[in-house]
Amino acid sequence: MFNLVLFGPPGSGKGTQSINITQSYGLQHISTGDLLRSEVSGQTPLGIEAKKYMDQGLLVPDEVVIGMISSLIDQHPDARGFNFDGFPRTRAQAEALDALLQFKQTQIHLVLSLEVPQEELTRRMLGRAATSGRSDDNAEVIARRIVEYKEKTFPVAQYYDEQGKLAVIKGDLSIDDTFHALSKEIDRHLLPVS
Ligand code: ADP
Repeated sequence: MFNLVLFGPPGSGKGTQSINITQSYGLQHISTGDLLRSEVSGQTPLGIEAKKYMDQGLLVPDEVVIGMISSLIDQHPDARGFNFDGFPRTRAQAEALDALLQFKQTQIHLVLSLEVPQEELTRRMLGRAATSGRSDDNAEVIARRIVEYKEKTFPVAQYYDEQGKLAVIKGDLSIDDTFHALSKEIDRHLLPVS
């Protein structure tokens, strides 16, 4: 198996790049943002609970997200690997993911962190707000999401860096150039030079 985490702040392009990576490398894409939005639109009990947090720009509680990931992993016993997008977003989620993967006798192999300057992130998110129809896309909520990222999610990069798994990639190039840089890093791990 090859398990990858695509990491980065809101607006860094994780969703777009995950679709490219998933297709090119045959990995199973798991986006907690997409999963949560589909629970919200299906008005499931989990979705109704999650919406309260998402609409304020807050992270959904760890236990809700970890439960969702656990059942998703179980639903794909034959996956060649997973591409986690938007997860883990807290240290507790990262530790829970390690435990879930260890149970399957595998691990996270690589964490690609997309780095984009703050002005560009804000510009992209406000642009998306005009067209997305997402209830969490307005200036006040976006500001809150940035604070949540800095306080709770950014430390996850350090968690993986300590394990020697983190690679930082510039995410303010074009979509194609960013994908090229990500692919180069993945290939380096898939085809180690002996
Ligand atoms: P982004 O705009 O950063 O790509 P996502 O679509 O990944 O955002 O997530 C949208 C919202 O869903 C987040 O602001 C958060 O409320 C919730 N969410 C998504 N993933 C997680 C997670 N792993 N832990 C907690 N909350 C999450």
